[in-house]
Amino acid sequence: MQTRRFFIMTTDPVHIGTGGMRLGRVDNTIVREPGTNLPKIPATALHGAIRNYAARRYGKPQCAGQKGHCGRPSCPICYTFGSTQGKAGSFSGVVSIGDARILLFPVYSMVGPVWVTSPSVLRDAGVGECKVSADKAKWDSSDRELPTDKPLNLGWLMVEREADLPPISWPSQIPQQIRKRVVLVSDKLFSQIVNSNLEVRTSVAINPETGAAEEGALFTYEAIPRTTILWFEVVEDDFRGEFPSKGKLGKWKNTLDQKDDNTKKLLKKWHLWKEEDGESKFDESVKRAKEWVENELNRHGNNGVSWENPTQVVTAGLEWAEHLGIGGMGTRGFGRVKWLREVK
Ligand SMILES: [Zn+2]
Repeated sequence: MQTRRFFIMTTDPVHIGTGGMRLGRVDNTIVREPGTNLPKIPATALHGAIRNYAARRYGKPQCAGQKGHCGRPSCPICYTFGSTQGKAGSFSGVVSIGDARILLFPVYSMVGPVWVTSPSVLRDAGVGECKVSADKAKWDSSDRELPTDKPLNLGWLMVEREADLPPISWPSQIPQQIRKRVVLVSDKLFSQIVNSNLEVRTSVAINPETGAAEEGALFTYEAIPRTTILWFEVVEDDFRGEFPSKGKLGKWKNTLDQKDDNTKKLLKKWHLWKEEDGESKFDESVKRAKEWVENELNRHGNNGVSWENPTQVVTAGLEWAEHLGIGGMGTRGFGRVKWLREVK
């Protein structure tokens, strides 16, 4: 089992709503974490978008949604995210994707944008331990990006400087120009600052029957602003150890070509053949299994897309969220996010 932490930056205002779409209703709610009241991108929205884009990149649109999957053991999408279909019945996926939580939140101040964070936010993200007084803030003085002799206005609020930021071992994914402009405030203040600096946008309701804008049906909604940095975890637990990597697909192809006891074993495992089916059905089943395997082998490596492990399938999907956003697909939620890569 391995856990990997991903960092993303919003490049659009991102709104993932809590409710369904209803015409003419003012909908200004955004999904929040219970307890802290901080907005988040729920795991379901991330998982849905990542599966969808990975499936399309791999040329398997039928495996994108919540049902109608191919369910084949040779399918990297179904193997990674699970399948509700297939001869072998439904099976679970091998990755679990967590909620995306805010790490650094942008606020416009008199001296330009600053990125606000708090002790428990940094701790939860595994970035570090630090403290700050309830009503003060810490920011760095070393590179003179931010003033040290006067308070900062964070939206509606003036905060006094307590001291320099304690040393923080920023993950390499966090851009340098942002690190220089980080302001640490208490957890309570952080929640207040975030919630009073969300974007509020206005949109027109669309009549689902005519596809036209409803007259006067404007609604407002909150959104996580652009350049917010969030993090989420992907836990990969490849308990089956049968991920259809290129090497594995090649081995399966050989096994199928041999047409011996190992071939039978493989076909049984894949629920394609059993002893009672007899030899007459054996050839037919081999042909079918080879079709599955060759199908994936032919796709592997096309357009620079490959899959060697489940986490790579996740990143293939995540890369497309940079252009296509998360949410969408008939829901009101939408917004693009950029995956921040490790800098080596
Ligand atoms: Zn599939």
